[in-house]
Amino acid sequence: MNKNQVLSLLNNLQFTPKKKYGQNFLINEKVCHEIVTLADISPQDIVLEVGAGLGALTKPLLTLAKKVIAIEIDPVLYNYLSNKFSNFDNLTLINGDILTTKLPPHDKVVSNIPYSITGPLLEKLFYYEDSPIGVITIERTLADKLILHGEYKKISRLGIIHGTFMRVEKKIDIPRHAFFPIPSIQLSIIKTVPKRGIPSFLLKKNTRKFYLDFIAALFPYKNKSLINAIHLGLKHHFKFTLEKDTILILLTQYGFKNCKVFNLSLDQLIQLSEIFYSLMNE
Ligand code: SAM
Repeated sequence: MNKNQVLSLLNNLQFTPKKKYGQNFLINEKVCHEIVTLADISPQDIVLEVGAGLGALTKPLLTLAKKVIAIEIDPVLYNYLSNKFSNFDNLTLINGDILTTKLPPHDKVVSNIPYSITGPLLEKLFYYEDSPIGVITIERTLADKLILHGEYKKISRLGIIHGTFMRVEKKIDIPRHAFFPIPSIQLSIIKTVPKRGIPSFLLKKNTRKFYLDFIAALFPYKNKSLINAIHLGLKHHFKFTLEKDTILILLTQYGFKNCKVFNLSLDQLIQLSEIFYSLMNE
C-alpha cells in the first residue's frame, strides 16, 4: 500500500494511529521487498510477525511461508486483519501483547517492531539458545549499538547482551518516509542470526536471568575500575553489599585485577557473572 491507500484505509476505519503502540505503517514497496528478501523465507518456514498493523508485511509473508503467526495488540487492527486475510489458512492471528503472550514455535521473526518496546522485545524473542533468525526494523542508533565495534564508547549493555546470543549479519538503513505517520527516529533493518555454542551457564533460565541482571548492574559503571563497578552494581542493582576487599581477592584470583568493564571480552563477562552468581547464591 502507498501513502494514499493507507490514508484512505485509515479514514474508512476511522482510525487514528496511536503513538503509544508505535503505529507507523509501512508505505514503501521497495522497503517491504527488501525486508522479505533479507528474510529469505522458504516454504518450510514458520514466521512470527510482531505488530502486523495493516498487514503490509503479513501479505508477502503469507504467500511465501508455511505458516505466519501474527500478533497485533490493537483490537481494531486485529479485526481488520482477520477480515482481510480470512482466505489464508496458513495464518494464526493473535490479538495480544507480544511481551505477555506465550509464543508458538517459529523459525524466523520478521517485523517492523513497535520501537518503544525494543529492549524487552529483543530479550523475549532472541536471548536464549537456538533462538530464531530475525529480520527486524529498529532505531538506527540502537542497530549500531548491536554491532560490536570493540570501541569502548560504543559498547552498550544491549550490545553486549545481544552479542552474547546473536550476531548482526546485515544492516540496511531505510528512509523514515517509508512509514506513515513518519516516525521521529531514523531506522535500519537488521538481520540477526543466533550464535552457536552458548555457554551452559546461560542455558538455564535462572542463571541466564542473573547474567542479564549482572550486565545491567555493571554497565552504568563501565568507565570505573572493575572493583568499583562490581561494588556499586551489586549494591544498587541487587541490593547486595560486598566488601571491596572480598571483590579484590576474587578479581585477583581470576586474573581480572586491573580491568575495567569495557576491557572485558564477552567470555570474560560471562565468566565473571558465573563467579558472582556462585558467591551470591552459596
Ligand atoms: N507491521 C506493520 C507495518 O509494517 O506497517 C505495522 C508496524 S508498526 C511499526 C508496529 C505495530 O505493532 C502496530 O500495528 C502496533 O499496534 C503493534 N504493537 C505495538 N505494541 C505491541 C505489542 N506489545 N504487542 C503486539 N503488537 C504491538
